[in-house]
Amino acid sequence: MPSEISGEAPAGPSHFIRDIILEDLRRGKHGGRVHTRFPPEPNGYLHIGHAKSICLNFGLAAEFGGKCNLRFDDTNPCKEEVEYVESILEDVRWLGFDWEDRLYYASDYFEPLYQWAVQLIRAGKAYVCDLSAQQVREYRGTLTQPGWDSPYRDRTVEENLDLFQRMRAGEFPDGARTLRAKIDMASPNLNLRDPVLYRILHAEHHRTGNQWCIYPMYDYAHGQCDSIERITHSICTLEFEDHRPLYDWLIEALGIYHPQQIEFDRLNLTHTVLSKRKLLTLVEQGHVRGWDDPRMPTLSGIRRRGYTPEAIRSFCGRIGVAKTNGVIELSLLEHCLREDLNRRAPRVMAVLRPLRVVIDNYPEGLVEEMEAVNNPEDPGMGTRKVPFSRVLYIEREDFREDPPKQYYRLAPGREVRLRYAYLVRCAGVVRDENTGEVMEIHCTYDPATRGGDAPDGRRVKSTLHWVSAAHAIEAEARLYDHLFTRANPAEDSEGLDFTAHLNPNSMEVLAGCRVEPSLRGAAPGSRCQFERLAYFAVDPDSTPERPVFNRTVTLRDTWAKIEKSLKAQGEG
Ligand code: ATP
Ligand code: MG
Repeated sequence: MPSEISGEAPAGPSHFIRDIILEDLRRGKHGGRVHTRFPPEPNGYLHIGHAKSICLNFGLAAEFGGKCNLRFDDTNPCKEEVEYVESILEDVRWLGFDWEDRLYYASDYFEPLYQWAVQLIRAGKAYVCDLSAQQVREYRGTLTQPGWDSPYRDRTVEENLDLFQRMRAGEFPDGARTLRAKIDMASPNLNLRDPVLYRILHAEHHRTGNQWCIYPMYDYAHGQCDSIERITHSICTLEFEDHRPLYDWLIEALGIYHPQQIEFDRLNLTHTVLSKRKLLTLVEQGHVRGWDDPRMPTLSGIRRRGYTPEAIRSFCGRIGVAKTNGVIELSLLEHCLREDLNRRAPRVMAVLRPLRVVIDNYPEGLVEEMEAVNNPEDPGMGTRKVPFSRVLYIEREDFREDPPKQYYRLAPGREVRLRYAYLVRCAGVVRDENTGEVMEIHCTYDPATRGGDAPDGRRVKSTLHWVSAAHAIEAEARLYDHLFTRANPAEDSEGLDFTAHLNPNSMEVLAGCRVEPSLRGAAPGSRCQFERLAYFAVDPDSTPERPVFNRTVTLRDTWAKIEKSLKAQGEG
């Protein structure tokens, strides 16, 4: 029983990795320890796919009373790493996970990794090879053809030790030599055809400076780093499945503590790309405003957009963990977000495209404070006062001079409810003399309907949101749509670059919006629902006088619809 092993910890969602751990615990493997790690390479910002891995690794450790390390896989020296390291730390923390005092860097282990390479050479299991990168590729063979042994494969241990030492000492230029494992050039697994373990790279590293001019390859470093940290379950994505035999070979050849590598499916999402390289392209080519552009699937982007860590964790729990790759609908992520925001986001009134309304029979100079509910889902969030006066703004699309059938909002002669206020009836319109555009509408109100209900019980078919013109704050709203028009922009049968499928209308900026005065000074990052419109989050570009809002997600839940129809199909 899981509960006997995990004690008080809440049971996480069931999946095959969790089952492996449960079985290991039952058999007493690793002395009952669970120790995982999240190993980002600091070459970009984290995205929602990384969130899946973070939730999995930290989540399993938490569930079983274990530990999870944060380890930067910084074996490849490159320029901007410091910025990436900082963003990754911030993102993992923001998601709600804590590595405590276990923040590590693969570069911390460069010395032991070097010593282990020497040990492999001594054991006749590694050699220095003078083939160029191009030649190494040619000698490797193909899936259908075995490779050829390198002419340097049979160097003596002494010669290998000498050359490797001189590689480290900086005697050779970049690419002149590599250290390779001596395994099997005829192996059906290409990863075992004498893989390169070390390369020469005269490059400055963000942590070790110029101390090293040889750098270990990912495949060589990863397992040994796991071993040093006594990781029990080294969880990685499926593309590493074919690397596992090498992972195991190295650990066995060195005779050191052996963590178990387990592979799971990468997250793919529709209408976006989840690859740091592609995301970097979007940033560098200026298709977006930066790594934290609210249209980006990066954690910093969706945070700025208004996503909550709770919604992301809930999403990662729902998508589960599998042994084959699939594609998840973006609408499921949005559904998880709405679920969370619906519970927590205060409702406010805001008008995106304002149309002026004058209430002719409302006393000039009078201001009434209308009581508005902050969240109908949570009475504990209380109420607030919203000022009402003679001149208001409503949404332009809430008025039609010539209303089509099924249009129940304001139209000449028609009565509607202004939320939390009064019933009003449209008495006339003022038009621009030249263009004919409606500039302003005139209404009368029924003073007996304060609060929105008529004492005579007469009904109206529509309730509109509004703001008082004299009290509202001017704001900017940024409306976002899918970043890509295609569900799968990266897989293109016509061979077009993924940027060919960028949605030219992924952002619409509305200046001159009007929001209720309670939003004055709203803190960047805070979220709310603009009633009848969408959820919004305050952008860091805001000033105290002029807030900027990012549309986080609309109110319409397409996933709920999909789910419903799937259910109907299942039942039918
Ligand atoms: P990218 O392809 O975006 O560059 P990566 O795998 O190179 O991703 P890393 O920094 O090496 O990025 O990833 C750190 C961890 O996050 C790895 O364990 C990796 O398997 C995992 N990870 C990366 N992308 C995804 C994804 N889309 N879904 C699940 N896990 C992922
Ligand atoms: Mg990587």
